Amino acid sequence: MTAPVAIALVGAAGRMGKEIIKAAAGRQDVVIVAAVERSGSPNLGADIGQLCGLPPSGVTITEDVLAAFHQARIAIELSSPSVTARACRCAADAGIGYVCGTTGLGEVELSALDEASRLVPVLVASNLSPGIAVLRSLLGQAIAALGPHYDVEIIESHHRGKVDAPSGTALELARCAVEALGGSSDLRHGRNGPVGPRSAHEVGMHAVRAGGVFGDHTVVIAGMEERLELTHRAQSRALFAQGALRAALFLHGKPKGRYTMGDVFGL
Ligand code: NAD
Repeated sequence: MTAPVAIALVGAAGRMGKEIIKAAAGRQDVVIVAAVERSGSPNLGADIGQLCGLPPSGVTITEDVLAAFHQARIAIELSSPSVTARACRCAADAGIGYVCGTTGLGEVELSALDEASRLVPVLVASNLSPGIAVLRSLLGQAIAALGPHYDVEIIESHHRGKVDAPSGTALELARCAVEALGGSSDLRHGRNGPVGPRSAHEVGMHAVRAGGVFGDHTVVIAGMEERLELTHRAQSRALFAQGALRAALFLHGKPKGRYTMGDVFGL
């Protein structure tokens, strides 16, 4: 039997971190060997199993990213954009693969991820679910088939705790739509006041923040006589946790470079 892939988890005490700890528990193909939280976190020193209501795992949460990465083969980071640039440099220094699921990344973080990918395999995914990977590919096909005279609008809904808007997934879907429309459309974030008629060259973006919604995305592609709506609804956070572990397994043993969830699912 092959040894499980050793994973270091960054953002271990967060909503997604805990979900990944639970998803990895009892699996034979992956094992979390190190867990990192921000300095000052009340969870430093906590056992990750006990943190999630599971039996003790023997892995305690630390703040030392590089030491954690030296114990692992793959890092999974779902934390905050303020973490990403430094953490991916540490992954490159430690020579391990890096799965980044954090959203709200800016130019600095994206170029740090690019730089790291020249040394190690790096997978960046604003959405770790198989359904969104499929939706992305369907979206390009639908817009190409229906033509540029159909309007495209994207509506996303998330829980009240989400800090970035629009969601990374909505931005990714918008990039796909703009590309399929020929590359010259602008993003239009919400509408308020006397905005005038809709321009033919815009892709509308709308963000709903309410309650405990895990993540819904609808792309509306509308002509004058018909409307196509492609909707994805995440039913639980476990969906993203399983996707993160699947991405980690995919990345293990891959050459340096940038990868996407499309690569993971063969799309
Ligand atoms: P959260 O706020 O519950 O958790 C984030 C955790 O990161 C916190 O525990 C925080 O203390 C920790 N953290 C902050 N700074 C840190 C540091 N310097 N070092 C280590 N840990 C640090 O948020 P969440 O709901 O778990 O989401 C985390 C990120 O993942 C967000 O960007 C979110 O949008 C994204 N997300 C992505 C997907 C996906 O499919 N890619 C799915 C869900 C959430």
